[in-house]
This record gives sequence, C-alpha cells and structure tokens, in this order.
Amino acid sequence: MLSDSYQDLFDQLKAVIPEERLIHDELRTLAYGTDASFYRYVPRLIVKVESEREVIATLQACRALGLGVTFRAAGTSLSGQASTDSVLMVLGDKGWHDHAIASDQSAITLQAGIRGAQANRYLAPYGKKIGPDPASIDSAKIGGIVANNACGMASGVELNSQYTLKDIRLIFADGTVLDTRDDHSRQAFLHQKKDWIDRLQALADRLKNDASLAAKIRRKYQIKNTTGYSVNALVEQDDPIKMIQHLIVGSEGTLAFISDATFLTAEEPRTKATSLMLFPDIATTCEAVLILRQCPVQAAELIDRVALRTVEDKPGVPAYIKSLGPEVTALLVETAANDDDALQANIRQIQEKLQPIAMAHDYSFTTDPGEAAALWTVRKGIFPSACSERDVGTAVIIEDIAVPVESLGDCLLELQKLFAKYDYRNCVIWGHVFDGNVHFVLTPDFSQPAEIERYKTFMYEVVDLVVARYDGSLKAEHGTGRNMAPFVEKEWGPEIYAVMKEIKALFDPDNMLNPDVMISDDPDIFVKQFKPMPGAHEIVDTCIECGFCERNCMSNDFTLSARQRIVIWREIAELRRRNPRSDRLKVLERQFAYYGDRTCAADGLCALSCPVDIDTGELIKDLRARRTGGIGQFMAGQIGNHMGRVTGTMRGTLGAVDRVHRILGSTVMSGLARGARRLSLDRLPQWNPHMPARAAAVRPERAFYKGVDQVVYFPACIARTMGPGRQDDTRQSLTHITENLVRKAGYQIIYPEGLDNLCCGMAFNSKGFKRTAAEKAAELEEALMAASDGGRLPVLCDTSPCLHHMKKTLDPALQLYEPIEFTLDYLAKRLVFEPQPGAVALHAVCSAKKMGLEDKLVTLARMCAAEVVVPEVNCCGFAGDKGFSVPELNAFGLRNLKDQLPAGVTEGYSTSRTCEIGLSLHGGIPYRSILYLVDRVTRPAD
Ligand SMILES: Cc1cc2nc3c(=O)[nH]c(=O)nc-3n(C[C@H](O)[C@H](O)[C@H](O)COP(=O)(O)OP(=O)(O)OC[C@H]3O[C@@H](n4cnc5c(N)ncnc54)[C@H](O)[C@@H]3O)c2cc1C
Ligand code: SF4
Ligand code: SF4
Repeated sequence: MLSDSYQDLFDQLKAVIPEERLIHDELRTLAYGTDASFYRYVPRLIVKVESEREVIATLQACRALGLGVTFRAAGTSLSGQASTDSVLMVLGDKGWHDHAIASDQSAITLQAGIRGAQANRYLAPYGKKIGPDPASIDSAKIGGIVANNACGMASGVELNSQYTLKDIRLIFADGTVLDTRDDHSRQAFLHQKKDWIDRLQALADRLKNDASLAAKIRRKYQIKNTTGYSVNALVEQDDPIKMIQHLIVGSEGTLAFISDATFLTAEEPRTKATSLMLFPDIATTCEAVLILRQCPVQAAELIDRVALRTVEDKPGVPAYIKSLGPEVTALLVETAANDDDALQANIRQIQEKLQPIAMAHDYSFTTDPGEAAALWTVRKGIFPSACSERDVGTAVIIEDIAVPVESLGDCLLELQKLFAKYDYRNCVIWGHVFDGNVHFVLTPDFSQPAEIERYKTFMYEVVDLVVARYDGSLKAEHGTGRNMAPFVEKEWGPEIYAVMKEIKALFDPDNMLNPDVMISDDPDIFVKQFKPMPGAHEIVDTCIECGFCERNCMSNDFTLSARQRIVIWREIAELRRRNPRSDRLKVLERQFAYYGDRTCAADGLCALSCPVDIDTGELIKDLRARRTGGIGQFMAGQIGNHMGRVTGTMRGTLGAVDRVHRILGSTVMSGLARGARRLSLDRLPQWNPHMPARAAAVRPERAFYKGVDQVVYFPACIARTMGPGRQDDTRQSLTHITENLVRKAGYQIIYPEGLDNLCCGMAFNSKGFKRTAAEKAAELEEALMAASDGGRLPVLCDTSPCLHHMKKTLDPALQLYEPIEFTLDYLAKRLVFEPQPGAVALHAVCSAKKMGLEDKLVTLARMCAAEVVVPEVNCCGFAGDKGFSVPELNAFGLRNLKDQLPAGVTEGYSTSRTCEIGLSLHGGIPYRSILYLVDRVTRPAD
C-alpha cells in the first residue's frame, strides 16, 4: 500500500508512464533499492524512466508533492549515494543507449544508460577510449560515472570526467533542460535563469577573490578528490555554463539529472610493458613512487604485504613472494608507448632512475599480453580475496583516501597503526599511488552494536589523520554519499562548505534531489541504516551486493537480477529465522516464487562477472532441489530409468503435433494453443510455429562406415528427439547431419552402448532432481569410458549445454568436445571449405560463452560464410524448457534480436536445439546448429 503522497504521485505519473514501470511492491522495492554500499534504504516508489519527457514529469510531480528523488544508473556506488527511502528513478532498459562519435573521433556523445566498457568498445576500432576508468567500468553507466566523477588506475586526475567532459545535457529539478552543446539552449538558459546565473557568478567571485581559498581549492584538486561539490569549477571556469557543466561532475545526483555527456576521447597506446616490483617496505615503495612519477609510467598500483598474502597462491604470482620479508610492498607498474622502440626507451629510463632504490627482489618488464594480464589479475584479485575470506554476516567497506604523494608513506604507516589500535585485522591496502590514492577494506559485523561504535570512532580518527594531518581527500574516487557527508565541512573548512551549501540551495531549492547525500545536517548519517548481511546460503554468503553480475543476468530489468535474488533470499532467510509467521515473509516467499525462481534461467552467466565467483543460478537450482518432494523425485527417477521410452514418446508427440500443425496452419494452431494454455492456467507448454518436428531415430547399428580414425558420438537426448521445425527449409535431423559430416572427414563413428537410455543429467539437475542427475551422469560416464577406450578417443556431443554439464560432472580423462571446437580441432583440416555468399547470424549459447568459445564460433562461421553477424544477446532465456513454460522470459531475452538482424540475413546458427526454437521465433529467421552450415559448405579434403 502506498502512503498518501506516494499514491498521489503514482496516480499522476500513470498518465505519462505505463504502470508496469511504476513499482511499489514489497519484493521489488527492496530488490531495486539495493546498491553496492553498506547502507539499506527501501524506496517507496520506483519509477523506471525511458525518456526525458518521463524524467521531467517525475521531477515536476515530486517537486509539487515535496518528495525526494534519487537517480539510479547501475547501482555500483559504494558510499550510499544511489539509494533512498523515497522515489528511486531508475534508468530503464530501452532508452538511454544512443551514442555518436565525432567525425575525427576526438569526442563521443553517450547517453546516460551506456556502460563505460561499451563506450570503449565503440571507440576501440579508432584506437581511442574515454578518460574515466573505474575498476567497475564494465558495469557502471555514464550517468553514474559522471555523477560520481569516477576514475581509476590510469586516468589520474587529468583524464577524469571533470577534465575530459566536453559537453553535457541536463534536466534540473524544475524540469528545465540545458544542452551545453546547443547555442540556442545555452542562450535561453542564460536568459531565463538570469538571477540564478548571477548568484552562481557571485559564489565563483567569492572564491576567486579570496586568494587563500582559491589556492586551497587548486591544491586539493592536484590529487583525486570526490568529497563535496567540485568547487574547482568555480575557480577554474569563467563561463557560467561551463561552471554548471563542471559542477555537475561528481554531484551524485544532488544537482540535476544527466541525460547525456560528450567526452573528449583519449589515445589508447599501441604497446605496453608491465612489471611487478618488490620493495623492502612501504616507505621505500613511496620513495620509488616519487621517482616513477618523473618517468613515462602510465599506471602504478601499490599492494601492501597483507594484500600480497591474500593472492600469493594465485596463478601468475611469483613463488618467491611467499619467502619475502614481513614488510615487503609491491608496485605493479605499467609503461606504454606507440611503438616498440619508444617502449624500450621507457623501460631503460625507469630502470636507470630506480637504480638508487633498494629492492626486495630483482624485477623485469614483460610485454607478453598473457603474462601482463596474469599480473593485473593478481592486483584485481585482492579485493575479491578479501571479500571471500571474511566471516559470514559481515559487511565489506572499501575506504578510499588520497593524500599528497610526498606524504603517502608516512600516512600509510599511521593508518596501519590505526588498524592495530582498533583491532581491524588483515586490512588489505592497495591503490593508485601516483594520485596518492589508496583503498583499504574493513569487514565489520554491523549486527553488533559494539562494532558500530568501533567503526564510528575509527572513522573519526581516519578523518583526523587524512584531513588534519595530511590535507588529503576523504573520498578520492568513490564519492561522498552519506558515508562522508558529515565530514565535508571538516575537509573543506567552513567558508568553502558554506559555498557548497549555497550551490545545493541554488540548484535544488526544495532539497528534493538525493537529500542527505553530499550535504547533510545529520552528523550520524554515516552510521545509520546499515544493510543487514545475514548468512542465507553457502553459495551466496560471500556476496557483497556490488551488482557486477547484473550486466550478464538475462532477467535483470525483467523480474530480478542475480544480485537482487540474493538480496531477497537474504531477507527471506533472516525472516524465517526471526519472524517465521510474519505476513512480510509470506508476501516475499510468494513473490520470490516467480520473480526469483521461475524466471531465473539458471544459466550461470552471472558468475562470469562476479568478483567472488558466485553463480546465483546454482542457488536457485539448490532451492528447487530442496523443494522437490518425494513424488517429484520418484517421477524424475522413473523418467531417468526409462529414457528410451520417454524420448520415443516425445518423438511421437512432436510428430503428431507437427502433423496437426501441417493440417491447421500456423495461425489457427497458435490460436488454439494459446487458448489451451490459458484454460490450463499456464500449465500447458506454450506451442509456437517453430516447434520442432520429430527427429529421425539414430540407428547405431547402421554406423557402417569404417574410417581409419574413430570418434565417439554422443547425440544429446534433445537432438535424438527434436528434428527441424516445419518453418525450417531442411528436413534432416541434426544427428544425421553430424553423422554425415564426421564421416565426410574420414572418421568412423562409435556410438556409446545403450544410447537410447543415455542422458547427461543436465535437465534433471536444473530442475533440482540432483539424485537422478547424478545417476544419469554416472551411467553416461561408464558408457563413454567404454566407447572411447578409457578416454583415448575424442567424444563429440552435438549440444553445447549438455557438453558443458558433462565437463563439470564426468571423469576428466574423457576428451569431451562440443560442435565448435570439435569441428575446428578435428574436422576442419580434413575438409575443404567453400564459403557461401551472404551473411549468417550467430548466437553463442550460455554454455559456449562459459567455455570461452564465442570467438571460435565466429572463426568457424567465417570459414563457412562471406559475412557473419553477431547480434548482442545475453542468455536467450529459453533455458531448457522455460521457453515453453515461461515464454515471456524467452521473449524478454530476445527482445532486441530482430532489430539487430540486417535485412539480408536469412538464417542463424547456434549449438543448442532448444535455444534455436526461441531464436527462430523471436528472430524471424530459422536458427539451427552450426554443423548444418559446416556440412553444407564442405567437401572431403581429398
Ligand atoms: C567493486 C567495486 C569497485 C569500484 N571501483 C571503482 C573505481 O575504481 N573508481 C571509482 O571511481 N569508483 C569505483 N566504484 C564505485 C562505482 O562503481 C562508480 O562510482 C560508478 O561510476 C558508479 O556508476 P553507476 O552506474 O553504478 O552509478 P550509480 O551507483 O547508479 O549512481 C551513482 C550516483 O550517480 C547518480 N546518478 C545516476 N544516474 C544519474 C543521472 N542520469 N543523472 C544524475 N545523477 C545520476 C546517483 O544518484 C548516484 O548518486 C567501484 C564500485 C565497486 C562495487
Ligand atoms: S553475486 Fe557477485 S557480482 Fe553479484 S552482487 Fe554478489 S558479489 Fe557482486
Ligand atoms: S542464472 Fe542466469 S537468470 Fe539466474 S541469476 Fe544467474 S544470470 Fe540471472
């Protein structure tokens, strides 16, 4: 139930925004409310906006009703600036994705919803990138990157948003739009807001005319600083429009909505060299940093001894690190140039300059991309390792300070003393030392009041250390949020803080934009509303709610993302412990059944981008397993024991349905099927015109070709059951195509004994029937071991998801291949490829993505067709049989497919029959196995 003002808001907004984008139920307000910080605020109303018109309508309605609004991009903020207990305005999934690159590639305009890494993908062909480079760049969106002035390892101060932002398009609290690249918009704004501009100019004059304040501001921005507003805009700029543009950078959604931003692009150097340097202690490391700052060094990352210990057993880390002294500290140094000679000159210069510095071990530079990547993986592994090793129930706090580089060594030593004083053990320290910026991690358990008190007094001392002793920044990169709001005045002093408050009052007189963030009158706001992190399930207990999984999660923006599933499951687990009879628990459990469970594709793509390797799909599968009762398990066992009969019946049913389809035609059949499904209350599977007909039976006894070399072929039960659909122009089953192709390459096929009854068990596993899944896997393993002569012969399975499951469950002695790698490694050299003209579309299924086969699929397709199109699709959402039982998930997964298929593309290829049903339906062209294409364009080599 919405309270009065929020109900009024809802009623007003539904005239402009579809109701499904106005969210206020128990489960989704909690789920969407969560960001990566350690604070918990639950919004009353979530508004998913898709256009500027909707932003303006929401802002104006909130203003009229006196309600606070917080903007949300990817929700990876750490300081408590992307959450609210009022209105959360979330960038919707459809809008905010346009970009334009200047004809000379010197600039790129990006709408607020584009992720940073995507912007760099647009620029990569030109050897360019955007300046800001937060470690979260794969997830963070432009709106959040600019609003947080986010930056990272290589950007330093020079390449952050503040200094690379060319233009911006803004919407202010009253709905006024300013587009700084449009002269008409600028002039109109200057005219309409004359008084406002005069007041801004007066504030700028106040700072400019006070030499000591102006000097302080310039000095403090020589290092990274995201505490408070970017007041350097007022002393560095004279044009009021430019002042506004630069003030918005780092304003954390408290001054205006950012619709798009134009960045000056930066060069991406062509060649790089990386070195892991080890120094005897922190002080010597910081001496080396001062020297390296005079050298051509692109990035220098400090890793302290505690941090080194967390990763010293990881691949790529030199073994000798373990034996080095207790104070040893590392610098990961990268130098870059546009050609090899220049790179070598850089290396020589660095080596010469560092000669006087004591080293704990010899060092060298590597230009090998693999070795360099391994070293960076070590550095990037520090934070996940710290997260994984923490106790269940504890929060993760990443602090983010900067001090002038000259004082960094002393400051770090004092910081370590503070850790000892407050008994914060194993605090890792790492950071971008050229900017004097280091991060350290605390893992307090805020369910204990004493822990809150300890954190509070510790933070007072950190503030004293950084501000009073070293004139540093309390937040270098991560933004002020609620975490540092009480300390902005302490860092900047009363005069500059007063200017900041006036800036806020000028831009947002009603204090409606992200109230309490950046400027707050509550001195304790930083120790309020801690997010509970209760133990909920061993698969997800290390989750830090960073949100990095969301970009890979196909149900993100549809029902819940992987992070949101964990948030809700934690809440349910806690309520079951503390308040098992509560209504809230009942509501959450009921909603979770659809939002969390039914619409999880269980494809595990979320794990690919999770820093702590969590596969939320495994959580869901485990919950399904716990729920399946005795009857379900019994039935699964029966199906497992009689696979031959089951697949035979399924083939018969598919054949019968296909005959009806032929007689009635697609339109009548679709109508009837829809009606039947409705009548069954969605229990009947959803038929569609791309349903497969029956597959031709596999006849192992007819495997008459006796080749010199042999291969074991295990056709997955899906391939043994499902043939091409009626809409497809081929009638041949995949198993026949595969037989033909393998023989064409001169291989004799060996079928495993008892093929009819074999199954990898994946389908049982994903539904939670773990026992039957394990039994089927064991049977298959035995049959494949026998057929492959104990693993001597390669085994081909024609369906990637099954093969992936087999790789996880069967004896590693088996050489298991799915179609892409098998064709490239075994068949290609024995075949002549005659590529067909025109373009084909490709879809790498989730399992192929998880096995790292996306590029190989493209390579193979390029051998077969003149042109290859790869639409951007995450998981298709068919998820085994969910395309039949929850068809809306498949429709959502493939919502953008058709638009990405150019007109001339008439066929698509993949490696999973069920996924191909949905792809054909939503792509509007037949999709089939890549083996069909390979078979069509090849002939035997001799
Ligand atoms: C593990 C981890 C590592 C990180 N590493 C770094 C790092 O190296 N460097 C760094 O700087 N940060 C880092 N961050 C913090 C964070 O990822 C970045 O600040 C990022 O830029 C936030 O972007 P977002 O899209 O998630 O924005 P959100 O978190 O959604 O929002 C950020 C702020 O911008 C506001 N906002 C969002 N959209 C708009 C809009 N359209 N108009 C106006 N205001 C808007 C929000 O209200 C909020 O105040 C890290 C975070 C995590 C979890
Ligand atoms: S599952 Fe992993 S990526 Fe997702 S929020 Fe948790 S820690 Fe972050
Ligand atoms: S398994 Fe797939 S749908 Fe489920 S949470 Fe992970 S990425 Fe999302």
